[in-house]
Amino acid sequence: MSRKKIENQLTTSHKYFAYINKNLNEIKDSSSGGAFLSIVKIIFSLHENVVVYGCEMKYKPNIHAEITKSYKYQDCLKFSGSKYIAGDIKNVFKYIDEDVNNGMYIVISGLPCQLSAIRNYLKIKKYNEDRFFFIDLICHGTGNVDFFENFVSLLSKKYNSEIIQYKFRDKNQGWKGYPSYVKFINGKELKNTLILRNFPILYLNGYIIRKSCFSCQFSNLNRVGDITLGDCWGIEASEGKIDTKYGVSLIISNSEKSEQVLSFISQYGYIKEIAKETVISNQQNLVNGHKPPKEYDQFWNLYKNKGIKKVLKKYGSMNVRQFVRFYLKKFAIKFHLYKI
Ligand SMILES: Cc1cc2nc3c(=O)[nH]c(=O)nc-3n(C[C@H](O)[C@H](O)[C@H](O)COP(=O)(O)OP(=O)(O)OC[C@H]3O[C@@H](n4cnc5c(N)ncnc54)[C@H](O)[C@@H]3O)c2cc1C
Ligand code: SF4
Repeated sequence: MSRKKIENQLTTSHKYFAYINKNLNEIKDSSSGGAFLSIVKIIFSLHENVVVYGCEMKYKPNIHAEITKSYKYQDCLKFSGSKYIAGDIKNVFKYIDEDVNNGMYIVISGLPCQLSAIRNYLKIKKYNEDRFFFIDLICHGTGNVDFFENFVSLLSKKYNSEIIQYKFRDKNQGWKGYPSYVKFINGKELKNTLILRNFPILYLNGYIIRKSCFSCQFSNLNRVGDITLGDCWGIEASEGKIDTKYGVSLIISNSEKSEQVLSFISQYGYIKEIAKETVISNQQNLVNGHKPPKEYDQFWNLYKNKGIKKVLKKYGSMNVRQFVRFYLKKFAIKFHLYKI
């Protein structure tokens, strides 16, 4: 897609907010401060015939992420929590045709590249955007799906059971550090164990991110959403008294539609306008994105030639340095020397 085409659909003015949802169940299920669920709740109260599109984890016929839809607020809980792999968008265009024909108010949440593709589709179909509301995310890139499938099958083999729940960030173990959680059909649960640490370590260090994400056109302040959501990293430094235990969302307001929605949000949580500088200095993925790790190609060569176990041992949590770090941190948490 050409740069010109993308610029045509972008919004320009911004306001920045830190947000903490006051509903404990909602914030615990979300990846940062639970802004997404509050925003959706407000939109359901402002409009009739609302439908929300979001990314859901599916477990049948195989584990994957997919963009699905929901006509009720309660059903939107399935979208909360980040899935750090690309969600399949193949059904979205069909959904849009149906929902436009039925006169729905359509809220679409997703990654900037997905929303850009969707907004191009709306243009081609000449659909009026007045009855659409877009929520995009700050994006570090998506994890390689083939790698994720192999990782999950390794877990299933090791524990001799199918996975029925996979959370990429489990708030019960803190907001920072991306602790994961897995539940198997036989009832076994894994909570941020050494083997689970592999995925966040390889994702955050960039090894398993798709190559195209390193030249992302959306790592800047030209946003495709009416609202952009992210983690409000660095908020403790500017708002010393804020309780970050269950996470803080960064909300960027990019349009008049979003200002209207945000004018109601204080009834659902704590909101504070923050300076652009605070945001920019803590969000590389809003400024110029990130580069692949030095050994990116070596990682993939090893994976293709020797398989997943070898790369986990060399680059993941089975690596000696990560192994020592993992147990030192566990020790520090146990003796209250480290706050999760
Ligand atoms: C792949 C990915 C990379 C991210 N990178 C960053 C980053 O670098 N910096 C940062 O500050 N924040 C990043 N985020 C956003 C962050 O993780 C939170 O999603 C965001 O702060 C919103 O949190 P919340 O608590 O308001 O709602 P949550 O409940 O956590 O978010 C739910 C929303 O995320 C959407 N979503 C979840 N997974 C996907 C997916 N795979 N594809 C499309 N939509 C999805 C849901 O549809 C829903 O709209 C990323 C999210 C994803 C999915
Ligand atoms: S980094 Fe860019 S290209 Fe990659 S998933 Fe995120 S928005 Fe899309």
